[in-house]
Amino acid sequence: MMYFDTHTHLTDERFDADRDALLSSLPHHGLALALDVACALGDFPKTLALTQAYPWIYGAYGVHPHYAAEAPDGYLEEVSSALRYPKAKALGEIGLDYHYDFAPRETQRRVFAEQLALAQSLGFPVVLHIREAFGDCMDILRAYRNGLCGVMHCFSGSAEIARECVDLGLYVAFGGAVTFKNAHKPIEAAAYVPLDRLLLETDCPYMTPVPHRGERNDPSFIPFIAQAVAQARGMDAEELMQATLRNGKQLFQIP
Ligand SMILES: [Zn+2]
Repeated sequence: MMYFDTHTHLTDERFDADRDALLSSLPHHGLALALDVACALGDFPKTLALTQAYPWIYGAYGVHPHYAAEAPDGYLEEVSSALRYPKAKALGEIGLDYHYDFAPRETQRRVFAEQLALAQSLGFPVVLHIREAFGDCMDILRAYRNGLCGVMHCFSGSAEIARECVDLGLYVAFGGAVTFKNAHKPIEAAAYVPLDRLLLETDCPYMTPVPHRGERNDPSFIPFIAQAVAQARGMDAEELMQATLRNGKQLFQIP
């Protein structure tokens, strides 16, 4: 068993007490690769350090919509420098979050569009965080669709919305939400997405899958997510993990 956790926040303080012990153990559980996502400029050095310490951790760097209002003038320069770090493989996570609205929507849209333009000019894939903002997101993505590649992270929408993402050339990543009791919509979407566009992720320490609800999430829980997605598709979980490992390597250009 070998899998790729395409969305982790391993620099989160909830890992401070046992980070090295946990990370050292993960390859023994079948973890082949992880993409660690830094969401604010201040977190970039922490993710960089993890990618330097562990050969199987790669980095994504971007300004999350929660922090859009705090992005200083010149933040794009900093994002762009981070993408020159060794093992930087994606710009993200970026997007719109109208659920929490931590930053004014207009600011979120501007910071999202500016980072999409940067990804486009540098030819980097994007990691998208979209919550309750799908209409605006699609309008902005269409404006930058030329050369667009990336992943809709933590997907919990309908098969219909998944189809729009796939049509735009995006990959769709499923996480713990597919294991939840009332997961009808994401399960339908997981059954729909073409096998070569599927990814798996934990979004750890958040979004812990069943049967570990209430605990801290970590990449070793990917098989529970794989099991739910595989069941929705009527396929073998092992085979699904293999396919998503290949897909992740392809999208993030990891040899
Ligand atoms: Zn995330």
